[in-house]
Amino acid sequence: MGRGGSYTLIDLAGRTFGRLTVLERVPNDDRYSRPRPLWLCQCKCGNKTVVIGANLRDGKTKSCGCLRKEKSAENSRKAREALKNARAHN
Ligand SMILES: [Zn+2]
Repeated sequence: MGRGGSYTLIDLAGRTFGRLTVLERVPNDDRYSRPRPLWLCQCKCGNKTVVIGANLRDGKTKSCGCLRKEKSAENSRKAREALKNARAHN
């Protein structure tokens, strides 16, 4: 009893991770040799995305991708400002 390689599915529905709110479980992706629980998530920006449950729990995935895009946009803006400041000092 309790054997057979089954694992306990952690129900993430309704939980939020960063910008993502978990909506529902979606069927496993057969691309992976070991099936991983996938979850459909609603991002605060309005996009929906499917995320591996472990990535949500580990904090690896916190948005549909918009967070990373915004960060890199901000980084390039900071880089431009730093360049401007460096020029101003010369
Ligand atoms: Zn988003």
